[in-house]
Amino acid sequence: MKGYVPGEQPVAGAAEKFIKLNTNENPYQCSPKVKAAIGRVVQSGLQKYPDPLATAFRIRAAELLGVDPDWILCGNGSDDILTIVTRAFVGTSDMVRFANPSYLLYRTLAEIQGAACDIINYNADWSLPAEFGKPNDWIRLAFLANPNSPSGTMVPPSAVAELASTLPCPILVDEAYVDFADTNCLSLVAENDKIMVARTLSKSYALAGLRFGYLVAQPHVIRELRKVKDSYNCDALSIAGATAAIDDGQWLNETRGAIVATRERMTAALTELGFDAVPSQANFVWCPHASVPVEPIYQKLKQAGVLVRYMRYPDCGDGLRISVGTDEQVDACLALLKSMV
Ligand SMILES: *Cc1c(COP(=O)(O)O)cnc(C)c1O
Repeated sequence: MKGYVPGEQPVAGAAEKFIKLNTNENPYQCSPKVKAAIGRVVQSGLQKYPDPLATAFRIRAAELLGVDPDWILCGNGSDDILTIVTRAFVGTSDMVRFANPSYLLYRTLAEIQGAACDIINYNADWSLPAEFGKPNDWIRLAFLANPNSPSGTMVPPSAVAELASTLPCPILVDEAYVDFADTNCLSLVAENDKIMVARTLSKSYALAGLRFGYLVAQPHVIRELRKVKDSYNCDALSIAGATAAIDDGQWLNETRGAIVATRERMTAALTELGFDAVPSQANFVWCPHASVPVEPIYQKLKQAGVLVRYMRYPDCGDGLRISVGTDEQVDACLALLKSMV
């Protein structure tokens, strides 16, 4: 197998030289309350194992989400959640379904299990064909990034419910970017026990370095998933930090507002420059270009100190996925692009 290749992360020392718009990190610092909560854990020592079920986080998250704590499973980032779910549902010679273009980790997770991939292309308007919900004898799990990466587009919850109703297997709705979107699929979890929703604190809460994500699913599903996770998959620092983060709703609202405003300005400017910038519900913008090759643009931006993500997908060509940074970062990127296209 090839293995998943994460976006470039310049190592300490080189990192400061780049404006980093390639892995959809939040350009702002996390809530000060998160740092304070982590500091308190450090002060009281780390000699004891953490709570295996991250109960403090689950209690607070349950209040905010309107579910009971036993509907929530916590993970070492949502990638850990995706791994746990794949491990639980998918065996050798089974099949995993996901869309193209989408998050490339789904393929890797299927391959680790020795399973096959059933890849369904998005329609030209970024809706999903009914084929995505079609039963077959081998499929055991479907992944749907919603909002999707790299497109930033969303399949409406009603369409997700429809696809799930015909699928013969569970569907994991990966809501890594949902805090930047206008809608979400959380309420579908109670209606259909085949629907699970995964979220992360990496993007909207500016905590990619902390590693914390969670899953919402019906309690009888969560109970089985717990059996196949690492016992202490979330450490004491991340549990305390994540709990403080979701408790600071004001920080989330302000930061989200800033990022969404920058996103809208950035999308208009990229369109003006001739990119086919796709209207985004996430904290990045997917930018194919009909007439100018974009790979050299990626290279030139990198030489000029701006990292974006160059992506090429089967059946849908290539493009630049540009994360929404601060206004200053985005303006610097736009100024360089203006001289290139
Ligand atoms: C970033 C991302 C994740 C992983 O998030 P972590 O919580 O940092 O592991 C999952 N799914 C998608 C679509 C993402 O873009």
